[in-house]
Amino acid sequence: MNMFDQKRRTIIMALGSNHNTKANIEKARILLRELFPDDLTFSEEMKTEPVDSDGPYYVNLIAVAQSSLRLPEIRKALSHIERLCGNTAEKRNNGMVEMDIDILRWGNKRYHLADWERSYIKELLATLELPKKFLALLLTLVTLTLGAQDFNTHFTDQTLRLDYIFAGDADTQAIYLDEMHLSPRWFGKRARLKEVPVQGNGQIIVRSHNSTDTIYRNSFSTLFQEWLSYDEAKSQKRSFQNVFLIPMPRHAVDITVQLYNNRRETCAELTHTVDPDDILIRKHPCQAVTPYQTVQQAADTSRCIRVAFVAEGYRQDEMQTFLRDTQDAVEALFSHEPFKRLRSRFNIVAVKAPSEDSGTSIPSQGIWKNTALNSHFDTFYNERYLTTLQLKQLHDCLTGIPYEHIIILVNTDNYGGGGILNSYNLAAAHHPQFKPVVVHEFGHSFAGLADEYAYESEQIPMYPTDVEPWEPNITTNVDFSGKWENLISKGTPLPTPEEARYKKAVGLYEGAGYSLKGVFRPMQDCRMKTNSEPEFCTVCQKAIERLIDFYTE
Ligand SMILES: [Zn+2]
Repeated sequence: MNMFDQKRRTIIMALGSNHNTKANIEKARILLRELFPDDLTFSEEMKTEPVDSDGPYYVNLIAVAQSSLRLPEIRKALSHIERLCGNTAEKRNNGMVEMDIDILRWGNKRYHLADWERSYIKELLATLELPKKFLALLLTLVTLTLGAQDFNTHFTDQTLRLDYIFAGDADTQAIYLDEMHLSPRWFGKRARLKEVPVQGNGQIIVRSHNSTDTIYRNSFSTLFQEWLSYDEAKSQKRSFQNVFLIPMPRHAVDITVQLYNNRRETCAELTHTVDPDDILIRKHPCQAVTPYQTVQQAADTSRCIRVAFVAEGYRQDEMQTFLRDTQDAVEALFSHEPFKRLRSRFNIVAVKAPSEDSGTSIPSQGIWKNTALNSHFDTFYNERYLTTLQLKQLHDCLTGIPYEHIIILVNTDNYGGGGILNSYNLAAAHHPQFKPVVVHEFGHSFAGLADEYAYESEQIPMYPTDVEPWEPNITTNVDFSGKWENLISKGTPLPTPEEARYKKAVGLYEGAGYSLKGVFRPMQDCRMKTNSEPEFCTVCQKAIERLIDFYTE
């Protein structure tokens, strides 16, 4: 067989040694020069901790060669170099690596895909003195493939639904694992897996088992944390359901759920291991899917934000009304920028979950209804507060449906609604303020925006004035840089007086986040402040756009 096939290719190799490192690397350099006499470049050397054992440090470097040698010949030659450095199978079994040379790339083909993700490989590649054009191409290749590769290395195209119980009182909180469910297809993000666009009041963090390597992260807020600020939490203990969706891991993972208090300190944490082969992960059959229909298809369904509207309190014979209400909500949402401009990035379905009774429960009037999600007014004894606490039931009725973000429409004409980051948005569909409310609540549930209004008296300050809140549209001025500083024109007084001449000006207006003092908002009015304002303020628009880009770019 001809050793050469004429075509010269770029070969990238990763070298590593954890024994006699200095001598072995020197020897390997000499032998590689003999193998690739006319074009060979080495990166800097870098010390790293072993990836999966607690043995000695490794010294790593990268070699890049141009050669017309065929792949099997190169492989053979590299094994020979490893042996000449003193490598034996027995030594390797005992964790002693005299020299290990892996081919990362041969021509256009890439090998050892997991290695491309290691930070030291990326750093070493960057230290190579390669022609700029080649380096740029190489780094693009690394970045471009990282997203998809990260996902496929660690996850399958299925959803693991994790049910938790959050329990406790104002003093102590605890998190318990409840059930796990597997369903086909994954509809959440496939890139930027370790990043969250907003911090949230809690996070779910997935790591490879026994490793510090984060492979997925998401942020959320909960009704439980809201309840903790009510007086009831000072004397009672209660538990709340919470449901999170993650892509199904291929290998064992450690999952950490953290809750943060309003000082942004961790107040409860649970870490548990999930083995994907665990027989007690409930498998959902596909045929149990609630009837649903697509209201709007995204331009690119492989990269879109999936929103499910869910019927609550609509009898089977009222589904036409539900579909009309969904259409109204969709039109209201997409009449607001930046949703209007970026409409094609959203995929929307209407889930026709039937209820026995029409309407919703109003405990303060003694009215209880049998509905799909058991929603009710008087949440936390707060008359206007309409929610559902049955998150497991909500996700049960969404199983098998393409969704990530949830908007529940409740068949009632009483005023009410709520939005909880990455949990759900719920609105009363037949109240005259329905349209502005559903859009406002989506600002909470989708983009993590804070309320920009203030109460005359706020017993428990939701935002302590010595802590910078994580929400992008309010500030306590403790750490304002990085918020909307760059949008304030020169000459705008800070704080900004609520005068007509500043009507359209971004500034610092005191009164937001339920407090009249010490918390500031970016503009005089906004959809996150009043139902009468027709648009989101400039800062909220930018924050929403950043979220849409995060999920779809
Ligand atoms: Zn705003």
